[in-house]
Formats: sequence, structure tokens, C-alpha cells
Amino acid sequence: MCSKKLFFALLCGLASSVWAADACSFDIKSTDVMTWTNMAGKPIPVITVPASCANFTINMQHIGKMPKTAMGHNVVVVKSSDIKGVIKDGMRYGISKDYLKPNDKRVVAASKMIGGGEKTSVKIPVAKIKDGEYLFFCSFLGHDRKMRGKLEVK
Ligand code: ZN
Repeated sequence: MCSKKLFFALLCGLASSVWAADACSFDIKSTDVMTWTNMAGKPIPVITVPASCANFTINMQHIGKMPKTAMGHNVVVVKSSDIKGVIKDGMRYGISKDYLKPNDKRVVAASKMIGGGEKTSVKIPVAKIKDGEYLFFCSFLGHDRKMRGKLEVK
């Protein structure tokens, strides 16, 4: 599709690099009613992660108004089989530690916890989520029941 002329080659190069950046990230928005969706407002049971990405970034915008201590949200990535243990141990640490055990080796990646009106993001090394099933969830107490989904590397 791309012309061999330099001008078009440059255009094509730009277009493909912009596309690649988009393919290696995903934007979500979270609310005051313990939910998150994609930017179009649709539920996100699965986020597809291209295997060609070295890192994959999830950007989250909290569009609510409630403070972090009442309706905090973060994005945490763990292997499916680890989620119960991570949540159980994290409960003991409370909101000051984002409901996560400090330096928990089972946590592949985690954003900070945010409140209404804030933004955060988490960078996930794709090589670390290729073996088996991985989930993204909010570690705030009780939120994982409604705020969790699968990461599918393809
Ligand atoms: Zn939450």
C-alpha cells in the first residue's frame, strides 16, 4: 500500500507507529457505582493484548466524584489462580496500601488507587502474562466482584 517515494514512506511510517501505540494500550473509565467500562460505556469482560506488544498499558479515568477512601479504584494484574490469595492478604493492609500486600510477588502490575476526577495507568510487561490466564481487577475491598476481567494475549 505504501508508495516507495520518500514522502509517502514517511507518512506510512507515521501512521503505523501511531497505530502500534494505540494497539498496545486500552482506556477505561470507572464510576462512583463500582463499575468500569470502555470509553464507549460498554462492559469489559476481556481486554485483548496483542502478543507483539512489549508492554501493554491500561489507562483509567475515574469519572465519579467520590474520594479514594470511599470509592477508590485501581487496576491490578494477577494470574487467575492467584486472585483469591492476593485479595485475602490485601484486605489486612487497608486503603493506605491500596488493599494490597506490599511487594506481593503474585502481583504482575498495579496502578495506584485513585478517587473521583483522577487518572492513572498501569504498564504490563506482556512477556509476564503469556503463560496461563491473567486477570485485571480493582483491589478496593469488595470491588473485584464487579470490577474484574480477563487479559487475553493474542
Ligand atoms: Zn474500585
